Amino acid sequence: MAEAQNISMTHLFIGGEWQQASSDSLIDVVNPSTEEIIGRVANATTADAQRAVEAAAAAAPAWAATPPRKRSEILRRCYELMVRDSEKIAELISLENGKSLNDARGETAYAAEFFRWFAEEAVRINGDISRSPSGLARTIVQYEPIGISLLVTPWNFPAAMATRKIAPALAAGCTCILKPATDTPLTAYFVARLLAEAGVPAGVVNVITTSTAGKVSNAILDDSRVRKLSFTGSTEVGRVLLRKAADSVINCSMELGGNAPFLVFDDADIELAIEGAMVAKMRNGGEACTAANRFYVQRGIAPEFSRRLAERMGALVVDDGVNPGTQCGPLVNAGAVDKVASLVDDARKKGARILVGGERVKRKGHFYQPTVLVDVSPDADLLKEEIFGPVAPIVVFDHEDEAIAQANDTEYGLIAYMFTRDLARGLRISERLESGMIGLNRGVVSDPAAPFGGVKQSGLGREGAHHGILEFLEAKYISTNW
Ligand code: NAP
Repeated sequence: MAEAQNISMTHLFIGGEWQQASSDSLIDVVNPSTEEIIGRVANATTADAQRAVEAAAAAAPAWAATPPRKRSEILRRCYELMVRDSEKIAELISLENGKSLNDARGETAYAAEFFRWFAEEAVRINGDISRSPSGLARTIVQYEPIGISLLVTPWNFPAAMATRKIAPALAAGCTCILKPATDTPLTAYFVARLLAEAGVPAGVVNVITTSTAGKVSNAILDDSRVRKLSFTGSTEVGRVLLRKAADSVINCSMELGGNAPFLVFDDADIELAIEGAMVAKMRNGGEACTAANRFYVQRGIAPEFSRRLAERMGALVVDDGVNPGTQCGPLVNAGAVDKVASLVDDARKKGARILVGGERVKRKGHFYQPTVLVDVSPDADLLKEEIFGPVAPIVVFDHEDEAIAQANDTEYGLIAYMFTRDLARGLRISERLESGMIGLNRGVVSDPAAPFGGVKQSGLGREGAHHGILEFLEAKYISTNW
């Protein structure tokens, strides 16, 4: 933490400088494990937002013209510096978000990888040339940076959600303004400092924090020089931003909420299914868009699966995120605990039985017990909403079609998990599940080299893989002949 305190947290990062915000007010950053204030950050106004757009606009032509190899090498250096400072970053994430140090280390490694991956993609922006079907013209397609990009990120992965956007934006030749979540702004400023050290030119990445996200984002989106919005957060806020982006027809990438089903068939390898369930449910203490939200387990295996999952959940060490032995930290704030508690109470009232947990932890901080529920009624709210906490509701099914119908019965479509030894069934069902990603006999799928994203109301577009850089490029078609 000592190193982290060296960050000029009370200033905005604009045009390569730590600049004073135009308002004097500061935003408190609270450690959810202790409820203590661990820092304060600047509170940007719309005037600061306009300054950030000016800085991004001033830097845009030179950055777009920078040779891809040079951009690539700077991104590679960002990766190396994140690896160098990974322990400091992990500690900072754990302090401001509450997640266990182990999860924070995992996030830091994942976050750094986006710089390595997009350093490699920066030099692979290929177009194509073809003869038109009529034979009358040559069709040249080349890719150009889409332009100034507003990047808005959530609190649950303070480093990775930022780097998953910054790295492809920079690789594509775009300049950007990052608006991190108010609950977890310190990590973003720490990363900004590393980017400057890595040689990212002034104004290419600007970071602003604010207590008025709507107003500040609107001010940025109202500037016609801004051509891209990349948002990760709730579906509810995503809808608001999509409406706003319509005013100036801004290109949008949306990584929104999830309600992941986790299917376990009678023929599953139960060891593997339990391991998969623990990571799919408990990575980040359940505060992940990819978190398994609903467990559908076939009748034959259900009693053993439920008993073993309850044993594992009940044995987790719940404690202050930064303590080395912690397996489950607190939730991000008091509101998050209230929401989880009310979802569990609703399920209980509708007939669910609690196998383990089911209560708030009586101590300072925003803790909730790891919980497993069975006999969950189909109308329980926690089957319909993102739980975003350490709670696993189990529903029993008999037939494959019944499981698929229940899995698809949601407006979300980010990810689905499935455990079966029958690979043909696994692939057949994968095609019928309405989700952008499938974990087939795996509880974690996130990988910078793979396209991350959802269908239905879980989002638009993909991050990571080659797809991620395309979100920050525009195709230009030149028709010619010779
Ligand atoms: P959120 O409330 O939607 O906030 C996300 C970001 O949007 C924050 O920076 C927030 O700022 C900002 N924001 C809020 N209202 C805004 C407005 N009117 N205009 C512009 N920006 C606004 O989401 P969250 O609670 O931070 O994150 C949890 C959600 O993110 C979950 O639904 C989760 O599933 C989703 N998520 C999705 C993915 C994915 O890849 N699909 C990954 C991670 C998380 P403030 O912090 O100041 O409110």
